[in-house]
Amino acid sequence: MANLRFNVVEKAFEKKALEIKTPEERPSEYFGKYVFNQQKMFQYLPLDVYTKLRDVIDNGSYLDLEVADKVAAGIKKWAISMGVTHCTHWFQPLTEGTAEKHDAFLEHDYKGGMIEEFTGKELVQQEPDASSFPSGGIRCTFEARGYSAWDPSSPVFIIGDTLMIPTIFISYTGEALDYKAPLKKALAAVNKAATEVCHYFNPEVKKVQANLGWEQEYFLVDEGLYAARPDLLLTGRSLMGHDSAKNQQMEDHYFGAIPTRVAEFMKDLEIQALELGIPCKTRHNEVAPNQFELAPIYEECNLAVDHNMLIMSLMRKVARKHGFRCLLHEKPFKGINGSGKHCNWSLATDNGILLHAPGKDALGSLRFITFVVETLMAVHKHNGLLKASIMSASNQHRLGANEAPPAIISSFLGKQLTEVLKKIETSTSDTMETIKGKEKLHLDIPQIPDLSIDNTDRNRTSPFAFTGNRFEFRAVGAQANCAAAMIVLNTAVAEALTDFKARVDQLIAKGIDQNAAILDILRKDIKAIKPIHFEGNGYSDEWKAEAQKRGLDCETSCPIIYDNYLSESSVKMFEDMNVMKKYELEARNEIKWDTFTKKIQIEARVFGDLAMNHVIPIATRYQSMLIDNVHKVADIFAKEEAQKLNADNMALISKISLHTSYIIEHVHKMVEARKVANKVEDTREKAILYHDKVAPFFESIRYHIDKLELIVADDMWTLPKYRELLFIR
Ligand code: ADP
Ligand code: MG
Repeated sequence: MANLRFNVVEKAFEKKALEIKTPEERPSEYFGKYVFNQQKMFQYLPLDVYTKLRDVIDNGSYLDLEVADKVAAGIKKWAISMGVTHCTHWFQPLTEGTAEKHDAFLEHDYKGGMIEEFTGKELVQQEPDASSFPSGGIRCTFEARGYSAWDPSSPVFIIGDTLMIPTIFISYTGEALDYKAPLKKALAAVNKAATEVCHYFNPEVKKVQANLGWEQEYFLVDEGLYAARPDLLLTGRSLMGHDSAKNQQMEDHYFGAIPTRVAEFMKDLEIQALELGIPCKTRHNEVAPNQFELAPIYEECNLAVDHNMLIMSLMRKVARKHGFRCLLHEKPFKGINGSGKHCNWSLATDNGILLHAPGKDALGSLRFITFVVETLMAVHKHNGLLKASIMSASNQHRLGANEAPPAIISSFLGKQLTEVLKKIETSTSDTMETIKGKEKLHLDIPQIPDLSIDNTDRNRTSPFAFTGNRFEFRAVGAQANCAAAMIVLNTAVAEALTDFKARVDQLIAKGIDQNAAILDILRKDIKAIKPIHFEGNGYSDEWKAEAQKRGLDCETSCPIIYDNYLSESSVKMFEDMNVMKKYELEARNEIKWDTFTKKIQIEARVFGDLAMNHVIPIATRYQSMLIDNVHKVADIFAKEEAQKLNADNMALISKISLHTSYIIEHVHKMVEARKVANKVEDTREKAILYHDKVAPFFESIRYHIDKLELIVADDMWTLPKYRELLFIR
């Protein structure tokens, strides 16, 4: 039999080095080439229009259609000079990708010809026929149109011949059908709350912005091998496959030399990303073989999210050009590390103060402690919800496995910060009363003023770690839209800061000195956040038991974790902070449960197909060969001699039967379990059934398939093996 698997291996290795793009200019010269950034706004817009647009972008002021028309005219001029013929609104529906619908710039000139046209209205609003995007029932199919509206805070950009306009996507009645709309509301909420708290320390602050620096992990596999693995193709992960004899145990991949083919891919990707204004900075090998990471310099959160969505599609595109497929699934291979997307998050003021970094003086340090402690208050209060924000059918495989953060949200602060908090907590009211000015505070908490927090103090097992001037939320999945996590985090911090301010103001109203009032509330809060603070090994079993005792959310079932979105405290938080209404949350949960079910359903189908159409026929064919051999041996040897010689093959023959019958029996049982689940109408119940009754079959059946992989002749096995998939030559 001509084996497809071997053909593709050969083809893959024969691939010639690819031509890659190497511009003559330096990165600083082509950075943002395809972005209508501030510099191009200045160049292409009349000064009054430029000033108005900056006001819209910087201060969120209202953009009227007259100005929008003028902005559109400027954008059109630039776009046409770049060879652009089409434009699209680019939005982030509640699937994990982005959506676009391209319209040509063309309009009738009413003189029998056509002209290039692009108006303010087209820039500002479109009505994509969006009935096939998930809406959780908010937008019934008969009112199929949602509309997309321009987000001027994220600049328009060009891909190929198309002008891409970042937009929010909402229903006719105003409910969010995407990630961007609630993210922008969450960012507005945290801006308001943080600015007000800032005024205790820095009355001149006008605005606080959330920053996000994501670190995108991914795997590359050879395109030819990928094509021979229906599971990778259809589900993004390998559903079966025995461990490679060598994988990551030598610890030789992390920061190791990047293979040439991969280096070429990375270079190409980075150039294209820089041209799109994504400030790529770091690239390196990750821990697992074929695993890599790309990280840009942090940016304003909304822009960083857009850039992450953009880079994920760019990665997929550029990988194909280099004969690879890019896997963004959180756990493409069993037994080695999965991929995450660490989200480095912090707050900063318009005058450049990093609120999660120690200040230069005592007051700055008190501000730092305030923002750290109130962030932890948010994480403590909403730890279950934060977990829900990062949970998915694919990320559930990663949490708690091979060096990934556990499925319990806790925070690591490091030795220095822990000591500072302890010091504040145990300072007494007596010493408090002596604190009047900055000097006294300086004396009372000696480490703080010139605190430089050592950020090499790392705990890789912590899902939410303080790293010197920011928090690093490590539980976010590689293929997720990080907006989901950012919506929850920013809203929760907005709520905590609002609550903090209310309590401090109450004390001030009673005549207590402002700093004393702040310290008093902080002391209470430092006690309150203790359950979330954990410096130990987050992977250990002891921590699971301990976390349970501390009252942290320890649920591991993905569909049940989603319930956190609808808990009383979550609904109150989202409504109070004006981010989402209860029925929006309900609708979004419908989508989450439905997506979960569909993902497991697809995996189960692919699994059944591979088991019954690849594995069983091949195992049976190999078994027949063995049986054939047994007969032939019996033909030519005397009975006793033949029995002796056939013993090993006889054992193998029965072993194969044991495995195949287990597989067949359980694939049938899995199909039955699916049928039962499919009859259930309620989306939550259905997802729970898929989680509890269907998915568990994967592990047990896989065990037997992987055993067969070790028994069956290598040249007969049709699926590329881990050792072939995982080592790029
Ligand atoms: P790591 O050691 O975790 O790989 P890096 O130095 O590579 O850390 O930084 C990871 C990301 O964190 C980068 O995107 C970086 O720009 C970002 N980052 C650095 N400082 C901040 C900050 N104050 N707020 C948000 N992100 C930040
Ligand atoms: Mg990191």
